[in-house]
Amino acid sequence: MPKQSRDMRHRAIHAQSSFGSRTDVGCVRERNEDSLVVSPPLFAVADGMGGHAAGDVASETAVETLQKFAPTSANVEDLGQAVINANMAVIEESRKAGLEGMGTTMTAAVIEKSRIAIAHVGDSRAYLLHHGRLQQITRDHSLMADMIEAGRITPEEARHHPNRSIITRALGSDPAMQPDLYELTASPGDRLLLCSDGLYSMVEDEQIQSILARTRDPQRCASALVNAAIAAGGLDNTTVIVVDITGDSIEQRKKKVFRSRMGMVALILALLAIVGTAAFALSSYINNSAYLITEDGKVAVYQGIDDEFLGMPLSHLDRVTDVKVDDLEAGVQVRLEEGIALDSLDEANNIINQYEEYVAQQQEAESAKNSKKKGGRE
Ligand code: MN
Repeated sequence: MPKQSRDMRHRAIHAQSSFGSRTDVGCVRERNEDSLVVSPPLFAVADGMGGHAAGDVASETAVETLQKFAPTSANVEDLGQAVINANMAVIEESRKAGLEGMGTTMTAAVIEKSRIAIAHVGDSRAYLLHHGRLQQITRDHSLMADMIEAGRITPEEARHHPNRSIITRALGSDPAMQPDLYELTASPGDRLLLCSDGLYSMVEDEQIQSILARTRDPQRCASALVNAAIAAGGLDNTTVIVVDITGDSIEQRKKKVFRSRMGMVALILALLAIVGTAAFALSSYINNSAYLITEDGKVAVYQGIDDEFLGMPLSHLDRVTDVKVDDLEAGVQVRLEEGIALDSLDEANNIINQYEEYVAQQQEAESAKNSKKKGGRE
């Protein structure tokens, strides 16, 4: 199933892009004779015909040749010439393979920013969704289109007419064949739809318009359109390409995606830096902090802060001193019950030294008093 895998590959490559595509054999046909090109800025649909393998060969030869010669800018003359080359290639292939009567349609578009060049042969179609309204750009080269134009039948009658699949121009038979050329300037937000007749013969324009208008993602939109054709009976191969017109070139769009990815990486790095700096600042703050607190009647020195984070204590015991809390001033005793926060372990040690001095002075004063008392008694 080369066509299926081609479709999947497009989907993988263009996961972030502004276009989507799908081709499906449908419910009745044995082979999918449609071929497509999704190779920005070139997009194309070719609907092969001729029975047996001939339709496949015709549409594949046509798209391969188109890709080889298509311009990279929206130059409609050059695109037309590429389709003429594709016509010659199909004629040549038909002769070589002895597959007389094989042919293919071709609706090809090159999109450059908002400019769209289209070259068209046969009854595949290009539509533009503009401000939510579907406009058919290409005119079918078919018996039905001619009869509708001549006022001989209505579009609804054409839908069920026995000769509805007769096309009046195709690639693969006439060396003098000329494609119709269309040049248009779309608006950002417009959507280009390329499709084979398998879509519009099964699904009314109104429904195509509504699916195009409401399915934002172009790949999902292409899928939804093919699903609608299958749900309606899927009598023919169905190929759909949906391209969002952004007003940017494909290259600019790629750069934007890259830029936004770079932006995301930079943002993550910045956040990591902030978190890292904060963690470093916090840990150095914790490591440089100390506090004094009463423990079993004695003054204890802790390194860190008297708090916890996510259930983990942010401090550890440095030592329990020999300083008895009861020996200190009343005000200091109250503060030690609560804990005295300090900027460093050194500061804590200095204060412990002061406490020890204070206690020693008190004891000296006490013993001096006692000796005086003794002396008095003597
Ligand atoms: Mn078809």
